[in-house]
Amino acid sequence: MAEQPAGMGGVPGYRPEASVLRDIESMLRSRSLVERIVEKIKRLAPLAARRVGQTPIKIMDFCGTHEYTVTHYGIRSLMPPEVEIVAGPGCPVCITPAYYVDVMIKLSLEGVRVYTYGDAYKLPGSGRRGRDIRSLEEARAAGGDVVVVYSVLDAIKMAREDDKPGVFFAVGFETTAPATASPVVAGIVPKNLAILNVHRLTPPIMRYTFETHRDNPIRGVIAPGHVSTIVGAKAWRFVVEEYGIPTVVAGFEPVDVLLAILEILRQLAEGKPRLVNEYSRAVTWEGNVKAQRMIEECCEVVDAAWRGIGFVPRSGLAFRDKYREVDALHQYGIKELTPEEWRYDLPPGCRCAEVTLGIAKPTDCPLFMKTCTPGTPYGPCMVSSEGACAVWARFGGGGLAEEIARSLGIM
Ligand code: SF4
Repeated sequence: MAEQPAGMGGVPGYRPEASVLRDIESMLRSRSLVERIVEKIKRLAPLAARRVGQTPIKIMDFCGTHEYTVTHYGIRSLMPPEVEIVAGPGCPVCITPAYYVDVMIKLSLEGVRVYTYGDAYKLPGSGRRGRDIRSLEEARAAGGDVVVVYSVLDAIKMAREDDKPGVFFAVGFETTAPATASPVVAGIVPKNLAILNVHRLTPPIMRYTFETHRDNPIRGVIAPGHVSTIVGAKAWRFVVEEYGIPTVVAGFEPVDVLLAILEILRQLAEGKPRLVNEYSRAVTWEGNVKAQRMIEECCEVVDAAWRGIGFVPRSGLAFRDKYREVDALHQYGIKELTPEEWRYDLPPGCRCAEVTLGIAKPTDCPLFMKTCTPGTPYGPCMVSSEGACAVWARFGGGGLAEEIARSLGIM
């Protein structure tokens, strides 16, 4: 059964002082603490593997930022052979369908100002490299009106300063959806600004991911920390109750991730899957109820497309009818993507869908660091700082991290 976590994060109004937070951070990077946890992981892993009858035990780090921690700090190199950490679909830029990128490119070239997060600026659409305009970055080079912003509020401020029609490209998971919903509900979006709502929900894609791993199941989940601040730890109860998979909501320091792995192995060895909130300094059981209400007031849950994957039931957000005036689909007469019209939308040879579902590693893709690099991304997983391919390219997943660990004498 799932457990309601105890901890400081559950106390309403609790805010640690800055100095306390600094102490916590330095503790979470402590070498001796890391060594002690890794030692325990190595002791528990064979027991857990015997108990579940699977070697290696597959643990998914759902969130792109966890994949960053795992790869940046060489955590895979510290794991015993019984443990395999695979990346998950927690990178919103990686899974945003090419269709919407194409729509934004077209609008920008037709004189509509496109406001985008920096992460989505280089995101390739469905165009062919060298022949078509593939990204908003290339659209701007070709004369399109594209502005990189930090938030929808920046776009609102800029739209108010002139009469130019504009569209904000709203991508992201539950973490960014409240920021999009809030000005819409407050009625402060100016008439010359529309929003293309491509927000996606994480629990449905986690379910989908488990189905794709049926033959070689995922045995543990490191649940996303940022998303959980909004949806609450309770959102992952189904993982334990319906799939029997140990689940730990974790923070993003190396010790957070190692503790999550240790907890998963402990539960597997005991044969007692539970939901544990290791990140109670930021995540509560209920999450941010105000933000959840804001999303619900603004949007309805719909079936939605994920790049390279297709439509996943009830995994996206769409503006409710009463807010259709801000909806770019409505304002610009753009046809919504439907399951019948969706086409496989990764560039030829790109294995991004398998990478985001944890079926393939970035290094399994023959284009990794050849045709596809962080400077010249060919597929969507090489664009964002949360994309598994970009993380592996920058921090040496697939070998380099292990070399560095060996040279430091920690392997
Ligand atoms: S390396 Fe590039 S082409 Fe290959 S899967 Fe990753 S993003 Fe796609």
